Formats: sequence, C-alpha cells, structure tokens
Amino acid sequence: MEPKIKQTTGGEQAALLIRATDFSGMLERLDRMAESLSEIRESLPLKRRKLSRATKRAHIGCILSWYEGKCPCCREARIISDNGSILPSCNEEHYVNRHENALDKTWLVCQECNSRKTTGKVAHTDVEALFRAYQVTLRKHLADGKGPVQMRLKDSDRLCALSKRQATSR
Ligand SMILES: [Zn+2]
Repeated sequence: MEPKIKQTTGGEQAALLIRATDFSGMLERLDRMAESLSEIRESLPLKRRKLSRATKRAHIGCILSWYEGKCPCCREARIISDNGSILPSCNEEHYVNRHENALDKTWLVCQECNSRKTTGKVAHTDVEALFRAYQVTLRKHLADGKGPVQMRLKDSDRLCALSKRQATSR
C-alpha cells in the first residue's frame, strides 16, 4: 500500500510543479500583455472633445451675423436657421485636432465641406485660408460685444436647449 501512496504523492507533486510552471508562464504572458496594452493606449488617437455651449453659441452668433447662417467654408449651404437653431447639415469641426475644442480651434461647417476636408477632396491650404478668415471675423464679432455673454437670456436659453438636443441625438 505504501508505495502506492508515495506514487500518488509524487504524482500530485508533479501536478503541482506543472501548475506552478503554468502559473509563472501565465504571469509572464500577463506582463507582456500589460506592456502591449500601454503601447496601444499611447498610440491611440486623442479623445474627441465636445464643443462647450459657450463656444457653440459664439460660433452660431458669428455665422448668423456675418455669414447669413451659411457655412463659413463654402458660403453656400445653410447651417444655422434664422432663429439660431443648428440645422441637420451643420457639423462641428475640430480644425486642429479632435482634442482641441477651444473657440479659436473649431468652427461650424456644412456636411459637404466637412466630408470634403476629411476625404482630402479640397486642398488643405484653401481650407486653411477660409478658416483663418473665419477666425478673424469671429474675433471681430466677439469684440463688437455680440458674444455669448451679451446675448439675451431668452436667446441663450433656447440655444442651450438646442445644443443639448443636438448632443443627445449623436
Ligand atoms: Zn460648406
């Protein structure tokens, strides 16, 4: 009986040894996976930051006052209605990168212009000139006291509600 017991014990020890080897192998694999994950995280594109309500209000005001509610890029497509609501064709564009959501790094353009830019159908230098021109107009608009702070409460409330509705519909 005794050898049989010893054999069993030996077998159990062997099994434990195998499990211990498996375990250390697993730990090594986990370490390698953690390393890969941090590399992947570092190479991911920057998170898209939404435009703040104040930023949107400033863009809306400027486009209504200076562009007749039309896209500042093509000046053809209507993107803001007369009462200041954002039309479905309006796109928030992060001009610099998805992470930069400040007033001077963004604008509102029509769907067509947005896709033309992202697909490279329009020269970057052309859009650049239009964007710079828009930013000059925007600064003038804000300097004229037509910025979001100076807007009537009724208007700003309505625009906030519209911005919210647009944000939830995405
Ligand atoms: Zn356009």
